[in-house]
Amino acid sequence: MASSRIAKGKTLKRTGSSGKLKDLPPPDTPGERKYKLDDLQMLSTVGTGTFGRVILVKDKTSKDYMALKALAISDIVRLKQTDHVLSEKAILASIQHPFIVNLIWAYHNETFLYMLLEYVCGGELFTYLRSMGRFKSSIAKFFALEIICALDYLHKEDIVYRDLKPENILLDRDGHVKLTDFGFAKRLKDRTWTLCGTPEYLAPEIIQSKGHGKAVDWWALGILIFEMLVGYPPFFDDNPFGIYEKILEGKIDWPKHLEKDARDLVQKLLVIDRTKRIGCLVNGSEDIKNHDWFVGTDWDTVRRRQLKPPVVPTVSHDGDTQNFDKYEDDGWQDAEAVTSDILELFREF
Ligand code: AMP
Repeated sequence: MASSRIAKGKTLKRTGSSGKLKDLPPPDTPGERKYKLDDLQMLSTVGTGTFGRVILVKDKTSKDYMALKALAISDIVRLKQTDHVLSEKAILASIQHPFIVNLIWAYHNETFLYMLLEYVCGGELFTYLRSMGRFKSSIAKFFALEIICALDYLHKEDIVYRDLKPENILLDRDGHVKLTDFGFAKRLKDRTWTLCGTPEYLAPEIIQSKGHGKAVDWWALGILIFEMLVGYPPFFDDNPFGIYEKILEGKIDWPKHLEKDARDLVQKLLVIDRTKRIGCLVNGSEDIKNHDWFVGTDWDTVRRRQLKPPVVPTVSHDGDTQNFDKYEDDGWQDAEAVTSDILELFREF
């Protein structure tokens, strides 16, 4: 078994600009308090993404720990990610949900864009999944329930998330879910055409450039539930094109241990024709919530974070980084400043 992300998640290179920002709410600075960079003590890097890094910081006054996502503006422009990043910040600033990471403050200077986020100390679901091999049904179901609440909320806000995968699902100190990385999220009323996401999680309509919408998140949920229960995704290969072929072919090897109801739900999520995919029919997400795999679920209890988490991260204190990989400080702060013309593109940030 070999795949591009069985060992460690890789995100498909983000493609050119797709963002039409005119339908976004006016960007504003979230949170009551105005921070200054100088208020924050930089501690250590807890994650790197395609375009930047996430650093654990401590508020020098309140002593609170937070996560600072820093993106070099020169990289963003070179990789044509300006619209995606503006959209990421505007969307995060406009939403609030218990299962989605909270944006506290955003700021930029002539070198970096910064997003100050709540620090989610339990680490990635990916790490727990790889170390446990696969999750038993009750564990996978818990994560599926909280993720469904988050996706349902985003869809009701007309936001498609587009990058669901275990690497982007963090666990808080208690073991509840926090969805992070809104770099591909987009506010939309209808369909969009940008090729983005992670190969194993791409819906057929993205690969076929047919235009896509919220249905891609329900497809990705099917991949996620399969990966949680089985330990690897249903379509994998050494190279992305092999993965795409398998997705379009739609043939899945079902391990015998998969229980009937879980398999039925995954089968209904992984329907190639999005007009027949569960979640995309007349009753929308209600069909998923009422599926037999979730029988007996009180969805209000889920929404209120009142389900008992099955995996509780080992955490010694709020600023503990033991659940994250260790990263070298490779002089990331030395990025070049950009010209005032370029900086103007980020005026709204
Ligand atoms: P991103 O570029 O947003 O995908 O972030 C890269 C990695 O940094 C994630 O996969 C997480 O491991 C880590 N990370 C991102 N946001 C946070 C956060 N708010 N708290 C803790 N770790 C985070």
